Amino acid sequence: MGTRLIAQGLEIATDDPAFWNLSRPETVCETHRLDIAAGADVLVTNTFGANRAWLSRFDRGEESVEINRRAVSMARAEAGPGRFVLGSIGPAAADSAGSYRDQAKILIDAGVDGLLLETHTAARAVVGLAEIGRGPIPLLVGLFRLESLAEWSSLVESGADVVGWNCISPSSCRTFAEAARGLIDRPLLAKPSGADPNGRSNSPRSFAMAVPGLLRLGVRLIGGCCGSTEAHVAAMRSALDTNRELW
Ligand SMILES: [Zn+2]
Repeated sequence: MGTRLIAQGLEIATDDPAFWNLSRPETVCETHRLDIAAGADVLVTNTFGANRAWLSRFDRGEESVEINRRAVSMARAEAGPGRFVLGSIGPAAADSAGSYRDQAKILIDAGVDGLLLETHTAARAVVGLAEIGRGPIPLLVGLFRLESLAEWSSLVESGADVVGWNCISPSSCRTFAEAARGLIDRPLLAKPSGADPNGRSNSPRSFAMAVPGLLRLGVRLIGGCCGSTEAHVAAMRSALDTNRELW
């Protein structure tokens, strides 16, 4: 969501994607709408940095409650019946004790179907899971690097219901899922980036081509991270539909 709002004019140096839940709600809704039209089953809320500690950099920490609530209500409205809403929690929450717990509570009270701790290291995710605790909804963790078997185990012991990777290339998702095969007793998640930090782009076609291999390796939640668009969603939807025997 952040990169898509930047493409719509968000100035990341002076603004934060989360503020657009208040200042540009129609743009956030339209982005969700494009993903649903492209065939998404799940929307992720525009709340990656919407914890009090991160928003305090702009002296707007007190607005975190309203920002998270609005984000959930917009995603829920655009998802419509029969689809799911995951609450996004970024790693900046780890910078302040209680931030994970506070943001998770707001998102859960607002009605998300699950929480997605994304772009995390295993160590940070363990901190987050401990603060959030085992609650009424599933907890999903997206890592941006491979991590070790011991670290995956600590995530599962800490309450992760789904473990996987986000913000890396489709081919790295595949390599990591291969390494994890049979070692994590949980469904896997893959949410690759449409563009690498070095500027190399990963096309919708490369997303679609990765889908069958990911499904064979136990990946059951598939999406797009930074730099991906509704074109990537549509490509994955099509690949999923033509590989139904794999899931
Ligand atoms: Zn990303």
